[in-house]
Amino acid sequence: MPVTTFSHRKSNKRQASSDIEEDGPSYSRAAAQADDDEHEPQPRRQTNGVKKEKKLARKQEPTRDEDDDGAEDDDDDDERIDVDNFRDQPLRRADVNKLQGVSRDWNNFDLQVRPNWNVVGDVAVALAEAGEGSDVQEGLAELEQIMRDLIDISAEMQAHEKVLEELAQKVGQGEEVDDAVERYDGGVEKRKEEYAKKTTRQKYAKSEEYVAFKNAIWEAQHPDKPMPPITDLIEKEDGDDSDDDDDLEMGGVSQHYNCPITLTLLVNPVTSQVCKHSFSRDAIMQSFRGRDPSIKCPAAGCTKRFTRSDLQPNKELEKRVKAYERRQRRAAEENDAEEIVD
Ligand SMILES: [Zn+2]
Repeated sequence: MPVTTFSHRKSNKRQASSDIEEDGPSYSRAAAQADDDEHEPQPRRQTNGVKKEKKLARKQEPTRDEDDDGAEDDDDDDERIDVDNFRDQPLRRADVNKLQGVSRDWNNFDLQVRPNWNVVGDVAVALAEAGEGSDVQEGLAELEQIMRDLIDISAEMQAHEKVLEELAQKVGQGEEVDDAVERYDGGVEKRKEEYAKKTTRQKYAKSEEYVAFKNAIWEAQHPDKPMPPITDLIEKEDGDDSDDDDDLEMGGVSQHYNCPITLTLLVNPVTSQVCKHSFSRDAIMQSFRGRDPSIKCPAAGCTKRFTRSDLQPNKELEKRVKAYERRQRRAAEENDAEEIVD
């Protein structure tokens, strides 16, 4: 005797329920992987809820398709289900954690790839130190394009992160979201369009990595003078107004290699994996003394919090600080030599 609507459906629509039963376990496997350790106990799902979420999960993680067993094709052949009118079921509050988890995944991809952008800067510095021939100029232009492409990809990953976070918020506030896939795709598309409309300065001049990249090249080519504001290096375009420039006046070598706490050159730099701000190790470690396990980032304007374990030694940055010191020293020595000659 049928106990729930689920088993009632099962007796009437055998084909449909067998699809759903196949979906069930494969869904839980996918969810367990996606949610990892933060998977919370959730109320028993209704079958069509599972279908909806699986669709969303499949969109983001195409490699899990092998679990699918071609269920979609079966749907199309089954005349007993009115596929056209099988409405997507709204996301529930229980889905908030999952949405937030996927959103965080995008952020993690972004943060994990980003430190490797340094390689582009290293190659550029090696090139710039090699001379000023047309080969060098061409190479630098190519590397500049790679750097910009990386920033564009990062912006796209952030679009995914933000749209999923917004979706999670809406669901958390109790809003009925029964068009999750459309909202997700549409939201990402909209953000991509907005990004595409930005000027070159708006896209790149605020990127810490881009400024560091330009800085490294500048230092190699002009060891004796600090880099001008980044806006001097990116031509003004329609849509750039002077207000934007004010934010970007920071440029300049010394600021980039200074610890926000000691205000002197970084010593044994460590970088927060949360916000990518860097500090002299001793100075930031003292900030933790006698306080919460987490502290607010001391970098100006940063609102993130991090713990000791979020800090990682940054050998790459250390190398650059040392190269900068070396160049400064050399420039000073050359100045002294000139003075003696005079
Ligand atoms: Zn920070």
